[in-house]
Amino acid sequence: MSGRTTKAAENAKADLPRLMQALRDQGVTDQQVLKAIETTPRDLFTPDLFKDRSWEDSALPIACGQTISQPYIVGLMTQALTVEPRSRVLEIGTGSGYQTTILSKVSRLVYTIERYRTLMKEAESRFNTLGLTNVITKFGDGGEGWAEQAPFDRIMVTAAAEDDPKRLLSQLKPNGVLVAPVGKGPVQSLRRYAGDGKGGFRVEILCDVRFVPLLAGVAKDQ
Ligand code: SAH
Repeated sequence: MSGRTTKAAENAKADLPRLMQALRDQGVTDQQVLKAIETTPRDLFTPDLFKDRSWEDSALPIACGQTISQPYIVGLMTQALTVEPRSRVLEIGTGSGYQTTILSKVSRLVYTIERYRTLMKEAESRFNTLGLTNVITKFGDGGEGWAEQAPFDRIMVTAAAEDDPKRLLSQLKPNGVLVAPVGKGPVQSLRRYAGDGKGGFRVEILCDVRFVPLLAGVAKDQ
């Protein structure tokens, strides 16, 4: 990881209003979510090769063959999670830590799990740089959830589960919300599970998305 470049910082000034407008045009209207995105320097999370594209509304490659999500999808998923200021949130798939940072700005506490040690370390250093004090990280298999800290008010999964993430749903509070891409192929459907308070869920399909798969176990770092 390296710091922000001057060019990226310059681009930020010029391109951020356009990115924010693109998000609004596509239906991200929650003020807290928009503010969190607007105040997060995405160029801190992108690799050197792509720094000048940090303010485009597109997903970009990061280390370990993974991706930093498209800002619109980050906005859409965060909005769909309907986070409250007092929420304790579990996130699976820290990746660059960009989505984690957005969640940390709209909630009380974020627990985040990543299966690549390299990505986890880089994300932790970004959280330090930003002075985030409400993010708790874990290197491990997020598919297992985080039983010691459960139940959670909200859970966000940023890697695609093949089927309903039952293990994670069992770590959600009765009225909690979980948002996850679900499906086997390169295109999955974004699902929102809302607890009905009695152990069941109302499931809503939001849109098609493309996420890297949720894989079992921890990764061998390259
Ligand atoms: N939210 C991230 C997107 C990361 S891409 C961002 O904003 O940058 C998805 C991430 O999920 C990858 O880093 C991948 O390594 C991770 N992942 C996949 N399966 C996982 C699992 N079982 N446990 C934890 N992390 C997992």
